[in-house]
Amino acid sequence: MIGIRNLKSFNKRVLIRVDFNVPLDKNQRITDTTRIQAAIPTLQKIINSGGIAVIISHLGRPKSKDTKLSLKPIAKKLSELLNQKIFFSEDCVGEKTLSDIKKLNSGEVILLENLRYYKQEEQGDISFSEKLSNLADIYVNDAFGTAHRAHASTSIITRFFKKNCFCGLLLEKEISNLNLVLKSPQRPFTAVIGGAKISGKIEVILSLLEKIDKIIIGGGMAYTFIKALGGNIGKSIVEEDKLALAKKIIEIAKEKNVELILPVDSINSISFSNNKQASCSDIYKIPDDKMGLDIGRKSVLLFEKHILESKTILWNGPMGVFEFSAFSNGTKSIGKAICTSTLNGSFSLIGGGDSIAASKLFGLSEGVSYISTGGGAMLEYIEGKELPGIKALS
Ligand code: AMP
Repeated sequence: MIGIRNLKSFNKRVLIRVDFNVPLDKNQRITDTTRIQAAIPTLQKIINSGGIAVIISHLGRPKSKDTKLSLKPIAKKLSELLNQKIFFSEDCVGEKTLSDIKKLNSGEVILLENLRYYKQEEQGDISFSEKLSNLADIYVNDAFGTAHRAHASTSIITRFFKKNCFCGLLLEKEISNLNLVLKSPQRPFTAVIGGAKISGKIEVILSLLEKIDKIIIGGGMAYTFIKALGGNIGKSIVEEDKLALAKKIIEIAKEKNVELILPVDSINSISFSNNKQASCSDIYKIPDDKMGLDIGRKSVLLFEKHILESKTILWNGPMGVFEFSAFSNGTKSIGKAICTSTLNGSFSLIGGGDSIAASKLFGLSEGVSYISTGGGAMLEYIEGKELPGIKALS
């Protein structure tokens, strides 16, 4: 895989696959620009080297040409961030798009319309890939967030560029930071895993057990572990069909000498709401009419102690329903502990949509070593899977 870092002059049309799949509110306003900002170094490198930047991305999951998922609002934001005019093409393939691109001069930028307006994109359609490839001379992939998909623009397309395929600066940075954690971690290496459910994170937990020294489990998934251990979890979220799996994870951790740390207390509510009358209990003794929505103070202290002792920390998933202020303390405190540990010299990596959202909400982004832009892609990389977007560049 060759990175664009060492290329001096592009001086050609460069097709850049980015991940501008940003969150939008109901008025199509962008609520978080992280993914756009993350692509800026690659775009700057290409335009400063004389290239014509032809940017392609998907946005959401449009069924057809859904104008609510147009990339047009992103062109405006990108123009602010790059401080230059961004041309926009109403399509991402075809004669009109090609003629729009041909009008551009060295150093200019055009953003093409949502790739997923064509179902062929997700199908990995060969002729659609070829049509995309006809738009430029060089292909650069900088879309880590979509690298786990074998789609037309992320994977199939490279066969049409032969040697002219390169890895963007963001993709390169994501891989090197993840490798730092997975291949040569300073020890103790602790994984902090939270979020609503175990399902979806089973593979990543099993694969991490091969590499880590400690695993801290919080969030909704912790209640399935507590129930599996015989606790009374009241109305808390639970995956009944994963109780045996939770027990198995506990056994595997023991076999591998990985310390598995569960919460000891829970902040409970009568309903799933921002209930200010929440109460705390032992996590094994939650009243029948209550549900646990956050970890309690004793759990925070316990988790903090382990985090401060760690030299490498990987965090995915919130410790509670952080979206409700009454249940955000656990996630906020654990995030702060990770920042303190980082300040003391540990390496910390955060990934996954909700952990990023939480770290932004609580102003923790600057305090960690690296925030991955990939959710699913990051988890699959950690699992040891070969990501199609990366493989296609090799
Ligand atoms: P995930 O996408 O699996 O990482 O899950 C993130 C979601 O888990 C967030 O929206 C949290 O609100 C939710 N969550 C965290 N803790 C709990 C809990 N105790 N009960 C229900 N949902 C939770």
